[in-house]
Amino acid sequence: TIVISNVDLSLGSGAARVHILKDISLRVGSGEAIGLIGPSGSGKSTLLMVMAGLERPDSGEVVVDGTAFNALDEDALARFRGRHVGIVFQSFHLIPTMTALENVAVPLELAGRADAMERAARELTAVGLGERLQHYPTQLSGGEQQRVALARALAPDPTILVADEPTGNLDETTGKQIVDLLFAQHAQRGMTLVLVTHDTSLAQRCDRVVRLRSGRIDVAAPDRVRVQTA
Ligand code: ATP
Ligand code: MG
Repeated sequence: TIVISNVDLSLGSGAARVHILKDISLRVGSGEAIGLIGPSGSGKSTLLMVMAGLERPDSGEVVVDGTAFNALDEDALARFRGRHVGIVFQSFHLIPTMTALENVAVPLELAGRADAMERAARELTAVGLGERLQHYPTQLSGGEQQRVALARALAPDPTILVADEPTGNLDETTGKQIVDLLFAQHAQRGMTLVLVTHDTSLAQRCDRVVRLRSGRIDVAAPDRVRVQTA
């Protein structure tokens, strides 16, 4: 469960200071999948970073699975993220000097898991990359790299997974495969999922669609979006 209450956030300094999130309140139930849509610059990525504990709001509260981020110092927040939060980005953010297996296993090792290698191999197999464990990122296609990133995000068995335009760098067919995989994993593991996308039809595969507009939740739009395809 993600509970965001009256969150405000500005970033940048001086003339570049921007009030990005404005009085955002939002609840995502345990196991629920929400699609987060909205125009470019409306604050989707920033809101995702707040949910993931990678940005701290100026005011308001973020509570994930009963843990209030406000009450955690940086170390405790980082530990919480490592255990409970999976993140997938548009660009895959793999470490180029590590194999697919190492990209997934090393974070598990750092988190102190004894079974890191076996677990990483299992996760990569689950995303269809059982035959690519020893490949380096440059030896993998974009879709395969995103699968590695997804395996890495899922490996600690997070209770929430946030994905920021995970298909943004992929062609349509490959993107659809990644999304199918994402929803299959969601159905299987039941984690809470927040999916940022520009693709309305993709967003509608989620249980609910939330739209941002200029840093605020647009309360009117999501229902309209739903009705259009009903
Ligand atoms: P897109 O669909 O293009 O990815 P978005 O909805 O994800 O857009 P954000 O990346 O959250 O939008 O950015 C929201 C606004 O905040 C933008 O106007 C952006 O320029 C501004 N912004 C983001 N990060 C910073 C920062 N570190 N400093 C100053 N302004 C920032
Ligand atoms: Mg963005």
